[in-house]
Amino acid sequence: MTDLDIHQQLKSALETFIDPETGKAVGPSGQVGDCSVSGGVVSCRYSISSMMKPIADELVDRLKGHILAHVPGVQDVQVKVESLYKPAPPIGQIGLRAKCVIAIAAGKGGVGKSSLAASIALTLEKLGSKVGLMDADVYGPSIPHLLGLDGRPEIVDGKIQPICSGTMPVMSMGFLVGKDQAVVWRGPMLHGSITQFLRDTAWGELDYLIIDMPPGTGDVALTLSQILPLTGTVIVCTPQEVALLDAGKAIAMFEKTSVPVLGVVENMSGFTDPETGKTYEIFGKGGARAKAEELGVPFLGEVPIQIALRRESDEGRLAEALKDPQLSKPFENVCRGLVRSISTRFAKQAQSAPLPLLQ
Ligand code: ADP
Repeated sequence: MTDLDIHQQLKSALETFIDPETGKAVGPSGQVGDCSVSGGVVSCRYSISSMMKPIADELVDRLKGHILAHVPGVQDVQVKVESLYKPAPPIGQIGLRAKCVIAIAAGKGGVGKSSLAASIALTLEKLGSKVGLMDADVYGPSIPHLLGLDGRPEIVDGKIQPICSGTMPVMSMGFLVGKDQAVVWRGPMLHGSITQFLRDTAWGELDYLIIDMPPGTGDVALTLSQILPLTGTVIVCTPQEVALLDAGKAIAMFEKTSVPVLGVVENMSGFTDPETGKTYEIFGKGGARAKAEELGVPFLGEVPIQIALRRESDEGRLAEALKDPQLSKPFENVCRGLVRSISTRFAKQAQSAPLPLLQ
């Protein structure tokens, strides 16, 4: 095989390498380009969008493996990653510009759903994506507290200006009502507020809008799914049997409203004593993985009990706490699992979509 032969075969190999965001071959799109071959070593550029940045390393490995498997005579593949700008289209009827809208839900309270929602949002942003966080847990909005945010959103040119955690826009009912004020929600009022949060907030252009849902199988999920097409939901649960039963109910509820379940996360999954290194499975372990397998939904990962996480988030310093690599590692795994789950869905949808009509 000469370098020229390899170069020619490379073109057809790229025709069958599928981009996970679009579900289409990268060949004609030019997403992989500037290819050259020297001494059997292929060099190329791979442009990856910010939505896929969290799994960029995996995509590069996948591309390398694809070329090595499909083009004989290749000794090595060197890939230079570049950023690809792909605009987010308006979603639903309300003009929100986000590629994915993800509801973080739980069958019951106290399993760490809000902590997970905020941590997933912060970690996706850290891994290179454009993220917004909306607190739809209107009965007990805790996102402002976890992130140490307060202040009242201003209205500029008819748009609600979100409060930012670093560069990440956040919107919560907690910004609009006093800390100890209880809000009694009636159906239309709830629908109105959720619509307003989605439609009238200056979110900018997002890859991911993460929504912290109220616990249980309530009407907010129904309201949301009526306003816009949710990309899917992530169910948070702890390993005990009671929590798993409730998680099962939440999954069934989302499936009934045709919202895809993107995966299950097991929170408070074991505790490792930092002094002795010994691990205690306080609530058990592995129950969520087994439940996910039983229900045929992806398992996204485990987050152990971490004292620092509890302490720092109760002090409003969750964003700072996640700068510690040890604390953030489980969330990075969950985020990568989530992006993988979404990309599998997008690829399936693209493949089953009808071919566009010829003009
Ligand atoms: P929910 O939204 O499900 O009601 P929260 O996110 O408010 O739950 O979490 C409840 C409490 O548990 C909070 O004090 C939070 O700091 C703590 N917590 C959540 N996940 C963990 C974890 N993995 N390790 C330690 N504490 C946690």
